[in-house]
Amino acid sequence: MAKRVSKGFADKISKALRDYKKHCAVCGEAIEFIKHIVTVTDSTTKSIRFKEKIVGVCNCNRNEIYK
Ligand SMILES: [Zn+2]
Repeated sequence: MAKRVSKGFADKISKALRDYKKHCAVCGEAIEFIKHIVTVTDSTTKSIRFKEKIVGVCNCNRNEIYK
């Protein structure tokens, strides 16, 4: 038997989904969040490190991110 989803819970989920879909104030496109790996070269030790960061991608910066 399927579990009933309470009204409050459904509201919470729909709100979370709506919050997740953020739109850019500049181009109006839905911002897509991706994990972007950048390489950081340490100038003193000459070692290369990888840094992960979450970036929001929309029309404004897509060309910079997807090189
Ligand atoms: Zn934009």
